[in-house]
Amino acid sequence: MRINLFKILHDIFGFETFRGVQESVIDRVMASQRTLAVMPTGAGKSLCYQLPAVAMEGCCVVVSPLIALMHDQLRSARALGIRAASLTSVDEDWRETQGQLLAGDLDLLYVAPERASNEGFRALLERARICLFAIDEAHCVSEWGHDFRPDYRLLRPLLDRFPQVPRLALTATADAHTRQDILAQLGIPDDGLIISGFDRPNIRYVVEPRDGPGRQIGDILASNPGPGIIYTQTRAATEKLAASLGAKGRPVLPYHAGLAPEVRARNQAAFITSEDMVMVATVAFGMGIDKPDVRFVVHAGLPKSIESYYQESGRAGRDGSPAVATLLWGAEDFVRARQRITEVEQARQQGERARIAALGALVETAGCRRAVLLRHFGEDPPQICGNCDNCLSPPASIDATTTAQKLLSA
Ligand code: ADP
Ligand code: MG
Repeated sequence: MRINLFKILHDIFGFETFRGVQESVIDRVMASQRTLAVMPTGAGKSLCYQLPAVAMEGCCVVVSPLIALMHDQLRSARALGIRAASLTSVDEDWRETQGQLLAGDLDLLYVAPERASNEGFRALLERARICLFAIDEAHCVSEWGHDFRPDYRLLRPLLDRFPQVPRLALTATADAHTRQDILAQLGIPDDGLIISGFDRPNIRYVVEPRDGPGRQIGDILASNPGPGIIYTQTRAATEKLAASLGAKGRPVLPYHAGLAPEVRARNQAAFITSEDMVMVATVAFGMGIDKPDVRFVVHAGLPKSIESYYQESGRAGRDGSPAVATLLWGAEDFVRARQRITEVEQARQQGERARIAALGALVETAGCRRAVLLRHFGEDPPQICGNCDNCLSPPASIDATTTAQKLLSA
């Protein structure tokens, strides 16, 4: 069996070795053990279900929240010679796909979560041979998580109709509370949790109060020639900043969901191949984008959560070479975040409050930034990382009643 897995890893996927926890996750899946894998972006979550899908008899059903991502995955799986299809609202070859599924001619079937509640779909799966349910972006099942999608709650009844089929939930972003919730929601035992290391040692974390952001961002660009991403909070801010930086001679493009699809596609393509471009974007930019040589990521305002911060800043330095992540924040970011709490449903307010408190701890700490991030993800880091602003030049004094804390306890 082992030899077989390595052979597939090599012959189909073209890799020499498993990375990090991939092997442990795949071992559990192959042993039909229900599993939640928490692995950072870029760690190689897809392989954890794609390889078993190829190795096992029957089709692996992959639940994924975004059609665009699904189709990317589909293309790359097919390019490897894996028999993959999707059943979504934009697919036209349903009949053909169903035929392939029933004939046992599919390794992977990608579906959106809402499909799970469709009785016809459930019945279809009952007539097919299913080897695995893979639930990607599994944090979407948790109201505690930062990206709750009610459709994910439809999955449990479907999964429970196939108690003997192993289930593998995957996510890049889940704090301890969200993890427990995912396990409970998807019926995975506590000992089915596998967490891989979150540290990105080549990323230098810098956190500064916003104090003339034009000048601060100008300084960052001046010392970072490589490609970079600047995240702004609004579409308007994106365009404005892109225009002002562009006027200074750096190749700069804006990116946000309000731009025409062809403009977005063009800007993204230009960024992917560029060696010095700066993308000024809202958080709509980045998902599914694999550019290894991003040298810096700037947050021009407070991110939504530690999870989003880790994921967005983590787009820097995927090639392992030195990269910088800079977070510029202001007290008004916290005021706005607190205001937003009152706008969400009661059930989610506690989670929102915890998210803001965690961000407060990150920006306010006089200690290691990396330690704050890693502890958030349940790791036990050393006190000093040697590669964040505070470790490199420890703050002179510790002020316990700083702005954000006052705001948080107000
Ligand atoms: P995730 O979903 O965790 O963000 P992906 O599954 O998209 O990550 O994989 C990220 C990248 O890592 C892909 O380019 C993939 O081909 C590569 N990769 C995955 N597993 C391995 C491996 N064992 N060895 C080398 N590269 C790998
Ligand atoms: Mg993925």
